[in-house]
Amino acid sequence: MASNYYGNIFMVVAPSGAGKSSLVNALLAQDSAVMLSISCTTRPPRPGEKENEHYRFVDKDEFIRMRDNQALLEWAEVHGNFYGTPRDRIEQAIAQGLDVLLEIDWQGARQIRQHFPEAIGIFILPPSIEALEARLYARGQDAPQVISRRLLAAGSEMSHVSEFQYVIINQEFSVAISQLAQIVAATRLRYATQAARNAHLFSQLGISSTPS
Ligand code: 5GP
Repeated sequence: MASNYYGNIFMVVAPSGAGKSSLVNALLAQDSAVMLSISCTTRPPRPGEKENEHYRFVDKDEFIRMRDNQALLEWAEVHGNFYGTPRDRIEQAIAQGLDVLLEIDWQGARQIRQHFPEAIGIFILPPSIEALEARLYARGQDAPQVISRRLLAAGSEMSHVSEFQYVIINQEFSVAISQLAQIVAATRLRYATQAARNAHLFSQLGISSTPS
């Protein structure tokens, strides 16, 4: 891989219950060139969640220490817990030409855009408000008051959809995953990426591999 090739950053954002994690997991299973960023959180693990696979679970003191040491690229308080993206793995991965996917909220996406203006924002919407409620209840992993809080938060999360370049409506899973894969594929075909990855070809063809 060309040494001047930098990987892309994909930010996938959605209200709780829009089916974001299932879509992201399906993309990761079919595309080994996408690396998932593992966030830190002060939220306790849900049943079945594993350390360093779903999250790095930390206490509040450790989170604040990481934040104050600039070890987080972005952070936010969501539903009363802290969440943040560790800086080192992301910077290493994109420097190696790997594409990185961040599952974060709209506040984190705003901070990432400040560091990486080229980051691609993808917003996942549910097909209806009823579907969103049904998915939150069906998950059965959170207490009822937590679900009500997340429903309220869903409206405010969705009010930020216009800050994202792409919107996927997750009605039919197979359609939504194919749309997500198409966004990733199209991003890799952008001029800057193609020119950096194929510098030898561009030079052989006598065309510029530096943006005008
Ligand atoms: P959950 O607790 O359901 O796993 O996540 C709750 C919310 O926190 C989701 O909207 C999720 O995208 C967001 N979130 C997870 N990790 C991060 C992170 O590292 N940074 C930010 N800003 N939000 C995150």
